[in-house]
Amino acid sequence: MEHIVIIGNGISGVTAARHIRKLSDKKITIVSAETDYFFARTALMYVYMGHMKFEHTQPYENWFWKKNRIELKKGYVKTIETKSKTLHFADGDMLQYDTLVIATGSKPNKFGWPGQDLDGVMGMYHKQDLDNLEKYAPNNKVCKHAVIVGGGLIGIELAEMLNSRNIPVTFLVREDSFWDIVLPEGESKMINRHIKNHHIDLRLGVNLKEIIADENGKAKGVVVAETGEIIDCDVVGLTAGVSPNIDFIKDSDIETGRGVKVNRFLETNIPDVYAIGDCAEQHEAIGQRRPIEAVWYTGRMMGETVAQTICGNRIEHKPGHWYNSAKFLDIEYQTYGWVFAKPGENEIHFHWKHEDDTKCITVCFDKNTNEFLGVNTLGIRMRHETFDKWLTEKRDVDYVMNHLSEANFDPEFYKQYETEILLSFNNQFQKA
Ligand SMILES: Cc1cc2nc3c(=O)[nH]c(=O)nc-3n(C[C@H](O)[C@H](O)[C@H](O)COP(=O)(O)OP(=O)(O)OC[C@H]3O[C@@H](n4cnc5c(N)ncnc54)[C@H](O)[C@@H]3O)c2cc1C
Repeated sequence: MEHIVIIGNGISGVTAARHIRKLSDKKITIVSAETDYFFARTALMYVYMGHMKFEHTQPYENWFWKKNRIELKKGYVKTIETKSKTLHFADGDMLQYDTLVIATGSKPNKFGWPGQDLDGVMGMYHKQDLDNLEKYAPNNKVCKHAVIVGGGLIGIELAEMLNSRNIPVTFLVREDSFWDIVLPEGESKMINRHIKNHHIDLRLGVNLKEIIADENGKAKGVVVAETGEIIDCDVVGLTAGVSPNIDFIKDSDIETGRGVKVNRFLETNIPDVYAIGDCAEQHEAIGQRRPIEAVWYTGRMMGETVAQTICGNRIEHKPGHWYNSAKFLDIEYQTYGWVFAKPGENEIHFHWKHEDDTKCITVCFDKNTNEFLGVNTLGIRMRHETFDKWLTEKRDVDYVMNHLSEANFDPEFYKQYETEILLSFNNQFQKA
């Protein structure tokens, strides 16, 4: 019987396994070095914050895998020998496959900073990072001060986590304004203020030079590159982005760039070897999408797609309209379609912000055709299906603005802002 081996038990690998099982009787093995069972990585923060136990992040009961004849193997794959179709494990074990799916996810970036591997220094990605955080930052007596390096979605989550245990945080952000490579200026500046309002010591436009060790090899401070200032701390969180977790593949004959190179069918250059999720890199970007997309739903979608192909129905990965959601402390963020930090040559941004400084929207449209291109909302929840439909229908911005309440998740709540938003749009663009 054909043996499908999947390296990685994250959302991508597990979705592939579940769908292959639905479609076939093939033998399936999932390999992971991280945990015995699949868990929702996006929920890790809530475990530290005490909202749930780690077991609650596991979407399936432990009996699920055996019942569905999905074998689980714990172990770290050190090398892939594609000619003999063999995986070699760090502990000397071997495993034969007929078809291989690489779904090894991401790892936190480390840029060779002196001290980056000291005790008390961690990323915020793996279950082990959570365990380390419990060890080095259980409360504000053991950890009197923490420094976070890197201002993106994971950095701000880590700041919120530490904040929840009253641990003072200094947040070192390279950019001049929070996540301003992605967020338009009005949004980014609003989030700067929101972070500071939470008593987080946000430092903009600064870089980490090095992490200093105490006599036991544990972090005791960081040096700021620009000023030479030493900030004492017990914990350093490295959250300067992630990159594909593929170092162990570099010695094989599977083609890699930043990630494992795949075509639209998620096939690598080696027959019967596929790559999906955070670790996969498209040869050519699909539309305006990035060649590597480290987001949950892309991994899930790729898992479903590759399962179809492996089971005989060869289909392309078609990601559809871009969307994403996250949270900046108390402010929810959603994005649908394309709203770049700065409008493109033929684009216009309409920005509205509520006076309480916790809600805003940015709508992007084509200045020649008026076509609606995308929307960011902060502090106001919108409906994914509605925007997805409007993007597919290529609605113009006037239609979208006049029907915005239909996209709202909470119409009662939104009613308060509807008139103000529309008025502001009409004023700004001289509409009737
Ligand atoms: C704190 C945090 C918050 C996030 N929040 C969001 C969010 O709100 N929205 C969103 O869309 N995305 C979010 N993400 C990103 C999202 O979680 C990832 O895109 C997704 O989990 C990637 O899934 P994956 O299956 O590709 O890889 P992973 O979940 O990384 O799983 C890969 C697995 O493979 C294992 N592995 C790797 N190499 C080997 C090897 N050599 N041998 C054996 N096993 C190996 C790893 O240990 C890991 O268990 C968040 C991520 C983090 C860390």
